[in-house]
Amino acid sequence: MLPVIALVGRPNVGKSTLFNYLTRTRDALVADYPGLTRDRQYGLVKRADIKSLVVDTGGITATADGIDGVAVEQVERALEEADVVLFLVDTRHGIHPIDEEIGQNLRKLGKQIVLVANKTDGLDANTHIAEFHKMGFDKPWPIAATHGRGVVELLRHVSNILPKIESFDDTLAGEGIRVAVIGRPNVGKSTLINRLLGEERVVVFDQPGTTRDSVFIPFERDGKQYTLIDTAGVRRRSKVSEAVEKFSIVQTLRAIDDTHVVIYMIDASEGVTDQDASLLGMVLESGRALVIGLNKWDGLSEDQREKVKRQIDVKLSFLEYAERYFISALHGSGVGKLFESIGALYRSAMIDMSTPRLTEILENAIKAHQPPLVGGRRIKLKFAHQGGQNPPVIIIHGNQTVSVPGSYKRYLMNAFREKLGLVGTPVRIEFKSPD
Ligand code: GDP
Ligand code: GDP
Repeated sequence: MLPVIALVGRPNVGKSTLFNYLTRTRDALVADYPGLTRDRQYGLVKRADIKSLVVDTGGITATADGIDGVAVEQVERALEEADVVLFLVDTRHGIHPIDEEIGQNLRKLGKQIVLVANKTDGLDANTHIAEFHKMGFDKPWPIAATHGRGVVELLRHVSNILPKIESFDDTLAGEGIRVAVIGRPNVGKSTLINRLLGEERVVVFDQPGTTRDSVFIPFERDGKQYTLIDTAGVRRRSKVSEAVEKFSIVQTLRAIDDTHVVIYMIDASEGVTDQDASLLGMVLESGRALVIGLNKWDGLSEDQREKVKRQIDVKLSFLEYAERYFISALHGSGVGKLFESIGALYRSAMIDMSTPRLTEILENAIKAHQPPLVGGRRIKLKFAHQGGQNPPVIIIHGNQTVSVPGSYKRYLMNAFREKLGLVGTPVRIEFKSPD
C-alpha cells in the first residue's frame, strides 16, 4: 500500500511550492466534493526513489480568537489518512503564534511529525533554524522548496520513518485478476459490485481495518478467478442502501496502485466532471489497464446520450486506449460485455514480449515511416526489448533518441499496440542511446 505524506502549516509557508516540487507538477488533483470546503491536493511523489502519495492539506487560517476551528477539523480529517506529517514553518519569519497552535494540535494526533523549516535559501540555515528547536519537535529540517534545497535529505529521513510497507502480498489480495471499481460517490460502484458478485454476497459486519483500506473480495466468474478491490465499502454496509464510507481519494489512489485493471465508473446522467478527468489522469499516470463504465445509461434520452458521447470525446481524448461501455449497473445492460473485456485487458497489461518480435515490429514501423532527420542526420532506432509489465514498457535503443518527436513516439506506440493486439492498456516507450 502506498504510504501518505501530508503537508501542514499556516498559509504562505510554502506548502504548495513543496507539493509542486515533490510531484513535479502544477496541476494537482483537487478534492472538490461537497463537504470539503477547503482545497486539498493529492499527488504522487516523483523525487528520490520514494514511492508515496503527498497531500497538501490546505491552509490553516486564523480568526480573531486564534486558529479557525473549522479549518483545523478539515485538516485533521485529511491527517487521519497520513503516515507522516510534514509541519512547515517559515524560517524567514521565525515562530508565528499560529505555528505554536498548530503544533499543539498536531501533537495530540499521535502521528509521526517532521518539522520542516522552509525558505532557508540565502540564509545560514543552521543559525536561523535554531529557534525552532523550542517548538518541541525533533530537530527542524532546513529546506528551500523553491530551489529543492534539502528536499532529498528530508525525503530520505521521511522514508526511514515511514511504516515499513510490505511489497504487495498476493496471498492476501487473493487469486487471479485484481479489478478495482473506482469513481466519485454515487456513480453506481456498489450497484455494479453487487451485480458482479451476484446474490451470494455476504455482508460482513465490523470488518477489521480502517476506513481508508479497501476490502479485497475474491470471486469466480465463468471459471476464472478474480479479486475485486472494493473502494465503495460494499462489504462494510449492513444494508445495501446504507452509505458507510466517506469517499477517500487516498483510498482510490491506493486501489489504482494495487490493481491490474481499473473499472472507472462515470455517472452519465451527470456527464464527465472535472474531478472525473483528474482522477482518470491519475489512472493514466499509474499506467493501469482501464475500462470506463458510463453508468445510468438507462435513464438518458437520445439527446442526452449524444451529448455525453461528445463530451467524452473532448474531455477524455487523452485516454484513447481505454475501452468504454455504456451500461446500467441497476438493470444489468452492458455489464456482461464490460466484464468480458477484463480478461483481454489483463493479458495486455501483463504481456510477455520477446526481443525479436519487438524489434521486428520496430523495423516494419520504420520501413513504413522513417524517423525524421535531426541536424542532417537521421535518428537511428536499432532494436527494442521489454522493460516492464502493467503497463507494458518497451525500451528502444538507437542514436539521437532524445530528438525523437512526440508525434513519432505516438506513431510507434500505436504500431506496437496494434501489432501486439494490446487493448485497454497504455504502452510506455523509453529510448536509450549512447549519445
Ligand atoms: P502555502 O500557502 O503554504 O501553500 O505557500 P506557497 O507555496 O503558496 O508559498 C507562499 C510564498 O512563499 C510564495 O510566494 C512562494 O514563492 C514563497 N516560497 C515558497 N517556498 C519558498 C522558498 O523555499 N524560498 C523562498 N524564498 N520563498 C518561498
Ligand atoms: P456508489 O456510491 O458509487 O457506490 O453508488 P451506488 O451504487 O450506491 O449508487 C448510487 C445511486 O445510483 C443508487 O440510488 C443506485 O440505485 C443508483 N444507480 C446505480 N446504478 C444505476 C443505473 O445504472 N441506473 C440508474 N438509473 N440508477 C443507478
